[in-house]
Amino acid sequence: MVITIEHQAPRKEVESLIRDIESKGLKVQEMVGETVNILGLIGDTTIVDETRIGMYPWVLSITHIATPYKKVSRQFHPEDTIIDVNGVKIGGNEPIVVMGGPCSVESEEQIMEIAEGVKEAGAKMLRGGAYKPRTSPYVFQGLKSEGIRYLCEAREKTHLPIVTEMMSVDKLDEFVENVDVIQVGARNMQNFDLLRALGKTNKPILLKRGLANTLEEWLMSAEYIMSEGNPNVILCERGIRTFERSTRNTLDLSVIPQIKKISHLPIVIDPSHATGHWELVESMSLAAIAAGCDGLIIEVHNHPEKALSDGQQSLTVEHFAKLIEKGKAIAKIIGRDM
Ligand code: PEP
Ligand code: MN
Repeated sequence: MVITIEHQAPRKEVESLIRDIESKGLKVQEMVGETVNILGLIGDTTIVDETRIGMYPWVLSITHIATPYKKVSRQFHPEDTIIDVNGVKIGGNEPIVVMGGPCSVESEEQIMEIAEGVKEAGAKMLRGGAYKPRTSPYVFQGLKSEGIRYLCEAREKTHLPIVTEMMSVDKLDEFVENVDVIQVGARNMQNFDLLRALGKTNKPILLKRGLANTLEEWLMSAEYIMSEGNPNVILCERGIRTFERSTRNTLDLSVIPQIKKISHLPIVIDPSHATGHWELVESMSLAAIAAGCDGLIIEVHNHPEKALSDGQQSLTVEHFAKLIEKGKAIAKIIGRDM
């Protein structure tokens, strides 16, 4: 970290700041220039509270040399992380993992029929929301524990690991006991209590990117989970808010190569929430495969027109099966199985 200060900065205050930083175990080297002075901080600068330093009127700028994240960074962990979910591996050069299932679990029959359909089509995991983060409090909120129970029954029948969203820390035991991959939804990406609690488990966590969060903020959220000891984080891009209204969100596919460069964690794309239209899901899935994603999470419904949530972006099982066939062809071109 480099702090640029005014040449005329009050000497006593500068020295007190230097002592304060050094008391945290860092070294400070000062360079005196003609118009500005520079303080170079050497050591683990993640512990420095830069907002406090920025409060001094004579501090002109604070520049980061190292990244604020450590555990998620490829600098500190050059090999790709491969996460094993009940035998399904994701990341590295492992086959691209497709997760399919409804937005919400609606009934035992519904999840069972979809689970069997997506399995037959080639999905390796089953998704389905039981606790739903809905914009309106007056619409279907999910079957909650009953939904988790139906997901477990569908897993028993199909042997597909289950992925479902946890919204609140008070459900931790229920999720740790029953769920294979715990999803942190976009709206909770910066729920730091939730992230810390999940960091104390060893469950694979699917961390969705927030509605309007930068790549760095997203990686810092992954760092929260990993800093508590859980290395099993799967990142999930699900589109971000932009001025464009013709799609539900804007799918930021460029994060795939960006994440691969910066981090060793696997990255999954959710083209359903990213686009909001089922007609766009196939092309964005194929593009994501070509861009190097490690997995896809796709909403599939047996009767999209009757779905209790997100029917407009849900594929039929037939369409999902066709998507996987095309996906395999693209994967092959880039030297990956699916
Ligand atoms: C979901 O996956 O059902 C969901 C609500 O996703 P997101 O958090 O990305 O909106
Ligand atoms: Mn949904």
